[in-house]
Amino acid sequence: MGGERSYTIGIAGAGVAGLASATLLAWGGHQVTVFDQFPKPRSTGSGLMLQPTGLAVLEAMGLADRICAQGALIERLFGKSHPSGRTVLDVRYEALGEGKFGLGVQRTALFELLNEAAMAAGATIVPDTKITSLRAALGGRIRIVTRWGQRSEQYDLIVDALGARSVLSPEKGHEFEYGALWTIVNWPENSPLAPRSLEQRYELAARMAGVLPVGVSTSDPVPKAAFFWSLTADAYEQWRKAPLKRWRDDVLTLWPDVEPLLAQIVSHDRMTMTNYWHRTLKQPYEDRVVHIGDSYHCTSPQLGQGANSALLDASALAASLRSSDTIEQSLTSFHQRRRRHVGLYQLASRVATPVYQSDGQVLPRLRDRIAGPLSGIYPVPKILASLVSGFIGNPLRDIGINEIKPPVVVIDEENRQEPQNGSPTAAL
Ligand SMILES: Cc1cc2nc3c(=O)[nH]c(=O)nc-3n(C[C@H](O)[C@H](O)[C@H](O)COP(=O)(O)OP(=O)(O)OC[C@H]3O[C@@H](n4cnc5c(N)ncnc54)[C@H](O)[C@@H]3O)c2cc1C
Repeated sequence: MGGERSYTIGIAGAGVAGLASATLLAWGGHQVTVFDQFPKPRSTGSGLMLQPTGLAVLEAMGLADRICAQGALIERLFGKSHPSGRTVLDVRYEALGEGKFGLGVQRTALFELLNEAAMAAGATIVPDTKITSLRAALGGRIRIVTRWGQRSEQYDLIVDALGARSVLSPEKGHEFEYGALWTIVNWPENSPLAPRSLEQRYELAARMAGVLPVGVSTSDPVPKAAFFWSLTADAYEQWRKAPLKRWRDDVLTLWPDVEPLLAQIVSHDRMTMTNYWHRTLKQPYEDRVVHIGDSYHCTSPQLGQGANSALLDASALAASLRSSDTIEQSLTSFHQRRRRHVGLYQLASRVATPVYQSDGQVLPRLRDRIAGPLSGIYPVPKILASLVSGFIGNPLRDIGINEIKPPVVVIDEENRQEPQNGSPTAAL
């Protein structure tokens, strides 16, 4: 059934969800055009964690080796509370058995990998296009409308991958009180920081600092770390006006070991403020528009699932188009494949956020008392490792990951041939 038809597909947004779906849909024989507001294709932001679920999608796409070569292997998520020194977060991937790990990556590295894959697959990427809305065209097809009122050609299907602030998403969602300041710095040699852990320090839930090793990028071979500091959205202006030294001293009281990272933050401009939004669409599609990635489900990054869920969405969408006869059936199928996993993780993130980022006293104090001891009692270590890995709800079963067929690249002595879309590969 299905899989025979080729559609024209317009993808709004060249982030993780947009570029991964562009690659997979172009491999499926569809004509794909991706639009983004950036003047040149690029990514913003610092680092993120790829979980075993996201890595499984990249592996099926034939991209895991490359991202693993650049990223930093993460074995453990570890957090301590100040001033008690109590362990309040301790999750080890090894609880799931050998070969399971997280990967800290620079956003640039992931973006470059996916951008290159989408272009090699034959997708067209159109930069410098600020999307404002959609317009119905003849025969149920749809056009994208840009800031200057220009209309794109008509598409059979529009994929909204515009992220947490998508102008195409039917709901805005709720903004969390706390966001965070983020930056990328050089990983300090000979430092007491753990090179294979995402580490955090908390004082209740109102103050939090974190360090994630994120490896290298193509343009810079020096290993990096992402450093983040929790901050309320309305405290940002005040933070910018205050002397940087006062903030540095504040962070150092919480976590003296980060001194070599802070020494590299020489101006307020080195830190970027990011606000977090929470939204879960009950139905992530209308007629011929489907919302994927953060546009469908955004939240705070407490559980580090966003980019991984975006990869799962992209894979589920491609599988749904392969196995359905019509676009309408594909979109229903996409929702069925993703609904349960998305629902579970959105709920878990919503519940976890006030425990780690809020002005509350009761939940963080309870956390300080029970999280450490609990994380050592069987079967809690395995449950926690499954949760952060993205495995709860068994998402890989539902997305058609085994059907992904990356193109075979044939290399002979004299000519390096271009990828052939849709060819099977012996590796799968
Ligand atoms: C600080 C922070 C830390 C995070 N840490 C993690 C982590 O450790 N692990 C993890 O898995 N996830 C993490 N996430 C979440 C993750 O970044 C997102 O879930 C993921 O990037 C979503 O991908 P996306 O493609 O849906 O959206 P995005 O990556 O946001 O891409 C959206 C794209 O749409 C474009 N766009 C937006 N509006 C317009 C417009 N009007 N016109 C044209 N183009 C437009 C943007 O330029 C962008 O390229 C973190 C998020 C933040 C903010």
